[in-house]
Amino acid sequence: MHQAVALQLPPFMEKSIFSVRRSKGGKDHRCFVRCETFSEGESRAINKNPTIIFSCDFPPCVTIQELGEYPQDYVCEHAKLCHSQSCVKRAATPLLRREKLDKLPISQEIKDSINELQLKCHAKEVSLVQVLSSESLAVVEQLGANEDNTLVTDAVSFVHVRFEKSKALTGIQLQVFCSGRPCAAWNPVFSANYESVAKTFSNLRLANCVHFAACLWATASDDSLDRDFGLYLRALRSFSSTLSVETGPGLSAAAENSIAHSLVD
Ligand SMILES: [Zn+2]
Ligand SMILES: [Zn+2]
Repeated sequence: MHQAVALQLPPFMEKSIFSVRRSKGGKDHRCFVRCETFSEGESRAINKNPTIIFSCDFPPCVTIQELGEYPQDYVCEHAKLCHSQSCVKRAATPLLRREKLDKLPISQEIKDSINELQLKCHAKEVSLVQVLSSESLAVVEQLGANEDNTLVTDAVSFVHVRFEKSKALTGIQLQVFCSGRPCAAWNPVFSANYESVAKTFSNLRLANCVHFAACLWATASDDSLDRDFGLYLRALRSFSSTLSVETGPGLSAAAENSIAHSLVD
């Protein structure tokens, strides 16, 4: 079973980034492992034994590295998986279709932010959204460039967006979590209940998370994502149909509250 997913990055970035499940069982909690190759000599060609440095962002692994209790070449269990070819698969990159973004039931402000990020990604040949598993997608968080417009590889970073379905009393509870710092920390950026008998959604909670919105764009653009992520898009569409988002500013916090109230009443 694949435990580590290699993100697709353009070859000129001399770096690999992997998304790794934190533990074998349970929810699809993931961490990012970066892998960089350094050669000690001036030219990589002369140095036959380059040093590979792994860094893992799972907090306990960061602590171990910072405390320095282990030898310098300590490699955590997540980074070990990235070593082993049989445990690594490549992330899929859905094709994003411009006209689908325009039709998404999200605010113009978020669409503009996605557009800005997508333009940077396109220029640097990095896919904005990458598929990791049936529950998680990776989305570009930041992508920086030097003044001479060459890419600073350190400036590329991703977030994990995790989609969770759980059984609630009346049906299925849908929740989405984003690991981005300005996003909702441990709170879901999206939640709704799906009542399977009545085939309706209720109790919308939606935070302004550009990463989740990018995932919705990918889901609307690529049919292969529908099976795992389509329900979340339908949930949002069913709420937005109660508002006239086509003409209005989209789902603002105020609109969100008013929908939540109208559903509770
Ligand atoms: Zn680790
Ligand atoms: Zn986010």
